[in-house]
Amino acid sequence: MSDDPDYRLLLRGAKLRITQPRLSVMSAVSDNPHAETETIIRAARELTPDVSHQTVYDALNALTAAGLIRRIQPNGSLARYETRVGDNHHHVVCRSCGVIADVDCAVGDAPCLTASDDQGFVIDEAEVIYWGLCPDCIEVRST
Ligand SMILES: [Zn+2]
Ligand SMILES: [Zn+2]
Ligand SMILES: [Zn+2]
Repeated sequence: MSDDPDYRLLLRGAKLRITQPRLSVMSAVSDNPHAETETIIRAARELTPDVSHQTVYDALNALTAAGLIRRIQPNGSLARYETRVGDNHHHVVCRSCGVIADVDCAVGDAPCLTASDDQGFVIDEAEVIYWGLCPDCIEVRST
């Protein structure tokens, strides 16, 4: 899994040096969408047992800067990462338990990027976070 050839291609395409920690972090983020750094470190260590916290942080930063992973940080939450990039999808966060789910902007389209008045900016991301209660928490409250 950690030497998945797809990740090598992605890294090469982004002109990043291919290292075992980077491959492990890509795989860990892919397997744990919207996970916090601690979870990613644990998953990366299953693939590369001796990888340090700092190395994982560095890999997350490099992969985020290269656009291979996306960092999201809802208010009051730690940074979370995902490999689903490039589609400007949004997130819905449960106020009660903090669980996060993906919400499509629109299939094959990102209408939120078309601001009614862009003020002359070139816009490449619309950060929209929906807040509410997840199905599990609604169930708990209604019983
Ligand atoms: Zn919930
Ligand atoms: Zn997402
Ligand atoms: Zn949208």
